[in-house]
Amino acid sequence: MVITMSYIDSIYDKVVLKNPGEKEFHQAVKEVLDSLVPAIDKHPEFKKFKILERIIEPERQFMFRVPWVDDNGEIHVNRGFRVQFNNAIGPYKGGLRFHPSVYLGIIKFLGFEQVFKNSLTGLAMGGGKGGSDFDPKGKSDNEVMRFCQSFMQELFRHIGPDTDVPAGDIGVGGREIGFLFGQYRKIRNDFTGVLTGKGLDWGGSLIRPEATGYGCTYFVQEMLKARGTDFKDKMVAVSGSGNVAQYTVEKINQLGGKCVTLSDSSGSIYDPNGISGERFDFFMDLKQNRRGRIKEYAEKFNVDYFPGKRPWEVKCDIAMPSATQNEIDKNDAQKLVDNGCIAVGEGANMPSTLEAIDIFLEAGVSFGPAKAANAGGVATSGLEMSQNSLRLAWTRDEVDQRLHGIMVNIFKASRDAADKYGAPGNLVVGANVAGFLKVARAMMAQGVI
Ligand code: NDP
Repeated sequence: MVITMSYIDSIYDKVVLKNPGEKEFHQAVKEVLDSLVPAIDKHPEFKKFKILERIIEPERQFMFRVPWVDDNGEIHVNRGFRVQFNNAIGPYKGGLRFHPSVYLGIIKFLGFEQVFKNSLTGLAMGGGKGGSDFDPKGKSDNEVMRFCQSFMQELFRHIGPDTDVPAGDIGVGGREIGFLFGQYRKIRNDFTGVLTGKGLDWGGSLIRPEATGYGCTYFVQEMLKARGTDFKDKMVAVSGSGNVAQYTVEKINQLGGKCVTLSDSSGSIYDPNGISGERFDFFMDLKQNRRGRIKEYAEKFNVDYFPGKRPWEVKCDIAMPSATQNEIDKNDAQKLVDNGCIAVGEGANMPSTLEAIDIFLEAGVSFGPAKAANAGGVATSGLEMSQNSLRLAWTRDEVDQRLHGIMVNIFKASRDAADKYGAPGNLVVGANVAGFLKVARAMMAQGVI
């Protein structure tokens, strides 16, 4: 164990040295490496074949210029990225993020996480991620379209239905996927399942928009079941108000829970009445159709709005962070624990800092890490790929049942791996080890490439 720990530390040190300034990537690697100690102890062959040294290095990464023209005729230049991290178990798969904070370190952290997450789904998908520092907020539909067309003008040569299949993430929803798909189809003269999250009339899957939020809620339901309880009458704090948050709230309502918070990058709202019925409909219309700010919800229903604040100070039984990385720090985690929070399901990617995770685990909070809890989105993207290959469309119920089954299996696989590798109840260790083993074995079998 001591030898393995120093071996793992030396790999982490090299990652920091070779990837300067990429702090989110360092953080994601640290979380995974630390929890793999028992797996490397048990499987010395992985050390011999330098699996860790290979798995932390992306197979390929692209950075490219994305010039576009705004509605006033002015030219702008953004930077585009695609990181193809690992395709040992299937084509690269992972979303595109359009947000001004995007740089290589963010895309690499997301791509690295994606490798283990996709493995956990049980489907044949490798890991990748991409995006741009373009900010879709405040842009017209035509500006977003011209940007997407320019982005795809370069990306098309690196992707394909059996090579790399991008999807949405922050700032990339149905509208953006439509523009990207249209441009790909035009350049390639091919109608294939090269992107997921497509519209229902042109190759999309039912339940894909709902999948990450529904899946995360199913995962939390399993964690609650293991504690002998359920969502009924539980108060839930949700952050974000985008795709993941929206369908998390919908599923919590269906399961009898009461969602009391939402946020966006300007602030958060607290509605002790619960965001359901007419209030939920208003919220969905506000964010999906009017692209408005969450503050308008507080104005409409006369509830508290906290400018610039995250929603972790309120009393809640369950927290489901669904906005962005590092949105729960150690102080937030301590507040949640002090207020009686018993479960955390990470809808967003890496929303909790490493210190926050430690606080949750030490306090006995059931903690569902992102790569397990939010894997429902990419799993349903995998189901969209299957339907595209079969040229069939499954019913809503069929896809939802498959999603539910996948989330239950991910929970079990993570719980069992945690038990087997000496960390019972620690789903961070469980998810990392279970996801890692499958990819590591595939890399061993395929030789040194
Ligand atoms: P959306 O763009 O639909 O929504 C993102 C939400 O988070 C918005 O409310 C946004 O507010 C808020 N947000 C974004 N950045 C920040 C920030 N820096 N500080 C505070 N709030 C912020 O994205 P998604 O819902 O798709 O994604 C949310 C999270 O879930 C991300 O971490 C993503 O990686 C993860 N995820 C998404 C999946 C999917 O299928 N979509 C799959 C798996 C994980 P504002 O509008 O003000 O920017």
